[in-house]
Amino acid sequence: MSKKVMIVTGGSRGIGAEIAKLGAIDGYAVCISYLHNKTAADAIVDLIRLTGGTAMAVAADMAVEADILRMFETVDRELGPLTALVNNAGILEQQMRVDQMDAARMQRIFTTNIVGSFLCAREAVRRMSTLHGGAGGAIVNVSSVAARTGGPGEYVDYAASKGAIDTLTIGLAKEVATEGIRVNAVRPGVIYTEIHASGGEPGRVDRVKGNVPMQRGGEANEVAQAVLWLLSDKASYTTGTLLDVTGGR
Ligand code: NAP
Repeated sequence: MSKKVMIVTGGSRGIGAEIAKLGAIDGYAVCISYLHNKTAADAIVDLIRLTGGTAMAVAADMAVEADILRMFETVDRELGPLTALVNNAGILEQQMRVDQMDAARMQRIFTTNIVGSFLCAREAVRRMSTLHGGAGGAIVNVSSVAARTGGPGEYVDYAASKGAIDTLTIGLAKEVATEGIRVNAVRPGVIYTEIHASGGEPGRVDRVKGNVPMQRGGEANEVAQAVLWLLSDKASYTTGTLLDVTGGR
């Protein structure tokens, strides 16, 4: 059986950490990237290794091209040919209206969420596409329900960055459809993770869960299950798809 190798950006906490753990259970050698929190990243790596899996962590800022290149080169060297990329790292900032936002904030959001995902996708395609001598693979982009709700009064910039991720998914899927690579996205709704603290409201999920038809927030593992399905051969005829994981929202 050929070896499966996965990169999960932002895999040290939240949804990314659950994707990494499920990926390892599914037989992937996993590389997680993180920004600052080495302790959290090491804990995920240790957990995977303890259960017999292969894992490594790379500190790499998705807003910095050189960091992304270094991450991919490290994986080439230490884990072998890439077969799966999960573009999961994403940021949001303090809740505010568009008329309060400055350009620096918009640039931070767009650089990490959009440019970072594009660059990772580029590096993955360069390695996995049969056009470039690769053996194929799969990409899953972690978008958000915000791409269609717009994030009014909270973070329209973040929502717009996820709209760009949806378009990346649709366009890239068509570009590489005959090159052995499937490209899909999951669009989580409100999920219990620490990202909401970055917006200044750690308890946001409990405030908004009444708007969710299922009347509850989601767990990171419920998003990770969808990601692993999209990466797997069970989704062999699925590409360019945006899969909502939102409790019906
Ligand atoms: P989270 O709990 O805040 O975790 C973020 C992860 O990304 C951490 O591992 C963090 O590393 C890493 N990270 C942040 N900035 C980075 C950068 N510039 N470069 C590399 N890694 C970086 O987030 P989450 O809620 O799991 O979100 C994961 C994805 O799901 C994001 O794309 C988010 O937009 C999307 N999403 C989340 C929700 C939700 O309700 N939670 C809903 C829809 C979509 P450190 O540990 O070093 O900080």
